[in-house]
Amino acid sequence: MEKTKKQFQAESKRLLDMMINSIYTQREIFLRELISNASDAIDKLYYKALTDDQLTFNKEDYYVKVTVDKEKRTLTITDTGIGMTEEEMENNLGTIAKSGSLAFKKENEQKDGHNIIGQFGVGFYSAFMVADVVTVTSKAFGAGGAFKWESEGADGYTLEPADKAAPGTEIVLRIKDNTEEDNYDEFLEEYRLKSIIKKYSDFIRYPIKMDVKGSRPKEGAENEFEEYVEEQTVNSMVPIWRKNKSDLKPEDYENFYQEKRYGFDKPLKHIHVSADGAVVYQAILFIPESTPFDYYTKEYEKGLELYSNGVLIMSKCADLLPDYFSFVKGMVDSEDLSLNISREMLQHDRQLSLIAKNIKSKIKSGLASMMKDEREKYETFFKSFGRQLKFGVYNDYGMNKDLLADLLLFTSSNERKLVSLDEYVSRMPEDQKFIYYASGESVDRIEKLPQIEAVSEKGYEILYFTDDIDEFAIKMIQSYKEKEFKSVSSGDLGIDSENDQASSEEDEAANKELFDAMQELLSGKVTKVKASKRLKTYPVCLSTEGELSIEMEKVLRAMPN
Ligand code: ADP
Ligand code: MG
Repeated sequence: MEKTKKQFQAESKRLLDMMINSIYTQREIFLRELISNASDAIDKLYYKALTDDQLTFNKEDYYVKVTVDKEKRTLTITDTGIGMTEEEMENNLGTIAKSGSLAFKKENEQKDGHNIIGQFGVGFYSAFMVADVVTVTSKAFGAGGAFKWESEGADGYTLEPADKAAPGTEIVLRIKDNTEEDNYDEFLEEYRLKSIIKKYSDFIRYPIKMDVKGSRPKEGAENEFEEYVEEQTVNSMVPIWRKNKSDLKPEDYENFYQEKRYGFDKPLKHIHVSADGAVVYQAILFIPESTPFDYYTKEYEKGLELYSNGVLIMSKCADLLPDYFSFVKGMVDSEDLSLNISREMLQHDRQLSLIAKNIKSKIKSGLASMMKDEREKYETFFKSFGRQLKFGVYNDYGMNKDLLADLLLFTSSNERKLVSLDEYVSRMPEDQKFIYYASGESVDRIEKLPQIEAVSEKGYEILYFTDDIDEFAIKMIQSYKEKEFKSVSSGDLGIDSENDQASSEEDEAANKELFDAMQELLSGKVTKVKASKRLKTYPVCLSTEGELSIEMEKVLRAMPN
């Protein structure tokens, strides 16, 4: 057959141009893409063997091999997978792969698109980020001959018959020459390639082999060394999240947390999920111990690592976490996601939103059980991230009423200990109608408020709100287990008996002149001066009648317009 030059399809051509011309910082992901294709190709053969009695599948025969030739500047990725027929090579390598491309183009019109390639990958074409010639030789399983596809990038490709005995695919990249701006030598360095493989493809379930050079003392000769080459499997193959929970120790999770650099602290808790209901996924989620330095700033980026069947496709998938759980670190792996999915498409992906929903409830129950069973740890967590939960109550309240209210803690008049709303309500005396709270700058100042006296006197517990957000959050919740919240400085505390009511009216009548004089003196500052039964040791206090408490008014006034 004659060797002919063919043009790429228009869309592919544009994408190629864009990729090659972008000053792309994450070029290393090309290797992830090629290895994942190789692994897919082995999967396909494996599937065939599973469904065809005539075939057997010996695991040892299936692997990916990465070899380097520094002199020729080539990097070769070989697999023993299902291979491609001539037609398949034409169709699969001549057209830019489905899903990713369109969304990529759209995104790229708005931004400069560099990150997009890095985050989702555009498959096979990413090879052109590091190679100026790509040669694919493939023999399809069960087919006649082998074929060679070759391309130098945007201007097209050739396809011709080739020699290859065993089924599978071999992809040779001629690594680009260095230019003044760009150095490509790293892609010919063994240790560098190993670390790229470890980083992105550690969990590929087939071995990724490399010939690794070493040197060892020469036998029979002193102080002499000899070089040798040894074939090594670079990836560990079994991801921790696929392992059995009972086979894993807390240290394993801690190591994973550190290895992944989710944080520099130790995680307080891990949540290992293995879901096989409506959506199938595995996840390892971590509750960190301390607040990242940029946590309460705009710089902080929430998100979980997203894997598709063991292959990392996004390092911070924000859609998996609601803002109020933005502190959670970790990863999710699902077989139901496409490798080439774009950020835009992920937002509309049904699988992903199901996973996100599921994860949300796992985090919630994880935190709830930590609150119950590991109280000290939970309080540490709450000191770091409690504010975020309260913001969550305030911002996303509609959807998350029960979800978040259960997780809140407040300092209480009961020995200044942290108390949950559930604990508060469950120990309320029978005659207590409301959940009382007092706002102030600090616990010390709150305890000096005249307003708390009447409530304390009744033996009722008071929640101390020292965070600006506390009262705003509580206003959103309104009630917990059918008990409404009430500020100790509100006009009607709900504890005055009828008797008290009557006697204050009497007092008021008796002292009318005094009250009128005071009201005049304070005009514009208070709306009314009246007698109160709630004061015990203090002569006077301020109270409010409207929706806003004195503290809330202060916060609102301090807010920039
Ligand atoms: P995707 O992997 O998302 O389909 P790619 O651009 O990575 O997109 O690959 C395009 C197609 O080329 C694959 O779907 C597959 O059919 C084919 N292909 C690529 N690499 C190989 C390989 N090593 N063995 C067999 N087929 C391959
Ligand atoms: Mg691919």
